[in-house]
Amino acid sequence: MSAEATNPLTPATVTTASHRRKNRPRIDLRRLGRAAVLGPAARDRLPDAIGHVVEAHRAHHPDADPDILRRAYLLAESSHRGQMRKSGEPYITHPLAVTLILAELGAETTTLTASLLHDTVEDTEVTLEQVGAEFGEEVRYLVDGVTKLEKVDYGAAAEPETFRKMLVATGNDVRVMSIKLADRLHNMRTLSVMRREKQERIAKVTRDVLIPLAERLGVQVLKTELEDLVFAILHPEEYERTRELIAGNADRAARDGDTLSETADEVRGVLREAGIQAEVVIRPRHHVSVHRVARKRGQLRGADFGRILVLVGEDADCYAVLGELHTCLTPVVSEFKDFIAVPKFNLYQSLHTAVARPDGQVAEVLIRTHQMHRVAEAGVVALGNPYAPGADDPSDGERADPTRPGWLSRLLDWQESAQDTDMFWSTLREDLAQDREITVFRPDGGALGLPEGASCVDAAYALYGEDAHACIGARVNGRLATLSTVLKDGDTVQLLMGQDVASEPSREWLEHAHTPGARIAIQRWLATHPSDPGTGTAAEDPAPRPGGGGARHVPDAPAPRPASESVVVDRPGTGARLARCCTPVPPDEITGFLVRGGVVTVHRVECAGAARMRSAERAEVGVRWGDTGECRVTLVAESFQRPHLLADLTEAIALEGVAIVSATVEPPTQQRVRHTYTLQLPDAAHLPALMRAMRDVAGVYDVGRAQHPAAQ
Ligand code: MN
Repeated sequence: MSAEATNPLTPATVTTASHRRKNRPRIDLRRLGRAAVLGPAARDRLPDAIGHVVEAHRAHHPDADPDILRRAYLLAESSHRGQMRKSGEPYITHPLAVTLILAELGAETTTLTASLLHDTVEDTEVTLEQVGAEFGEEVRYLVDGVTKLEKVDYGAAAEPETFRKMLVATGNDVRVMSIKLADRLHNMRTLSVMRREKQERIAKVTRDVLIPLAERLGVQVLKTELEDLVFAILHPEEYERTRELIAGNADRAARDGDTLSETADEVRGVLREAGIQAEVVIRPRHHVSVHRVARKRGQLRGADFGRILVLVGEDADCYAVLGELHTCLTPVVSEFKDFIAVPKFNLYQSLHTAVARPDGQVAEVLIRTHQMHRVAEAGVVALGNPYAPGADDPSDGERADPTRPGWLSRLLDWQESAQDTDMFWSTLREDLAQDREITVFRPDGGALGLPEGASCVDAAYALYGEDAHACIGARVNGRLATLSTVLKDGDTVQLLMGQDVASEPSREWLEHAHTPGARIAIQRWLATHPSDPGTGTAAEDPAPRPGGGGARHVPDAPAPRPASESVVVDRPGTGARLARCCTPVPPDEITGFLVRGGVVTVHRVECAGAARMRSAERAEVGVRWGDTGECRVTLVAESFQRPHLLADLTEAIALEGVAIVSATVEPPTQQRVRHTYTLQLPDAAHLPALMRAMRDVAGVYDVGRAQHPAAQ
């Protein structure tokens, strides 16, 4: 592993993606600085300094017009002329370096133009109006946003309020944040000229705000270098120890051979034999990553110092590579993660796996396409200009608007609804401190990003905003679940919404609300609905909880009404009957179909029977749950075979006061047995407790709702 690639103080780290463009010379920022000092020698040729930026830009965007960059450079250079950095270098070296960082990441022309000008309005005579007139509204908007952000870091007074303004200022465009991140990276690289206390203060802000932002925006290259720079300043001793570990490993590898290189050769051989075109490279871990692994595993071995990266052409090739590696090498299956099928919140896509070597070392392998790699390295910067013609069709849910990723939209929503600045600020910091997000799915296939540890309550508020006050239950992966259920990456969540206006959030939801959005909404509701000490509930009518079985038939698009009202049947003469195929119970989402004799049969919305009725064009009518009555439900209990299981299960059911209508027991296969019970509950709200009681029976490992009733 080369020392250069692991030294965070080497600016060339940003060119980690350059193995794909390895013919391009690496750009030396010092040379750039000298070129800038010399300035535009002749107006008729491109100044050397901006020439490097244009070259880096064209490597990603061969058709880009360099003229606007040249003009921006000339304005920046002439207006900053005479200003010096603390290091003694001409000031223009800073915007140039920042722009070069962004150009190498593949940023589009508008971002680069704004980046060249990013300090002009703050520090020179140039006005925003002038920028707008010469370079257009978009550039003006970006420069304005960066100027505002600049004030955020250094104006400690009224910081929360400023931060809110910053979010508003940049909310429409994450390109502002990209420039800010590159700006911070260059300032961090050149921090050694500052006083020690100032270095530490800037490093802490970088750690608390900028690094989480880089993570959120998926700009891995900037994030890792910033992490190492912060590490070196805030933990110099541990940084030094880590540096020695890495150097020691490099010496050992040079002497005894490098485990990762050998593994990479094996991988190449396997893929060559399988006829799969792939590029296999070794990615050294950065210092912070080595440090983390060292703390986790203690003694580090050769394979721990880096990871193997396999780059292929097509998505499908990723799985082909995985298949070959898992067949021909020894996979560590527990290390397998599929971030292609279930991408992380920040656009990152890859397959992760690991292979065990004969000597017991485990080498981690990342598999991705070249395009995924570009996004993994540069995140939102790689997405290009969202306003350009032909920019991606926003049909992709959470990822629809690259300038406003889902979490940013949420921040902006909260800042509107949080009246109290301190609450907003503390919840924002909490949110940025979340290590990672999980992705959950809705039954309709839509995806939703949530912080790790989020519950169904959080999902409800993320999806429905304040309408989530009416949430009455949830299904996770098809199973009824309490709202407090903590969601896992990849779960499918269906939220069951009450139909009544008087629905209210429960005070205890606060205990399960993890996200600022949910906490702010619930707290706000509680603040405006002081509780009645007599009943312990809010002063208004208590929320109607799912009461019981008898579904009432109501006309389409019914006006919501409290269930406590005595509701005659809305359309006189019609009765409702629960369908036998899916045995709906509250709070299932239900739909009804008019059948012979004016009777409405009620199905769960996802029931195949309902789909058949619909395709047969049977009249579909709106139905909702009433407040009284019994209900019938069919449950399947999956268990390990053991004596007395049937007796114990039926006893547990009886103890819950539930009558068994019918039961079937399938013959055991491989020591497992399935019992199916059709049960009559006095109160549908009792179902979760019943299912819990059944799960508590020894040997039972799962209880779920069945699609079909047990045979009579
Ligand atoms: Mn700057």
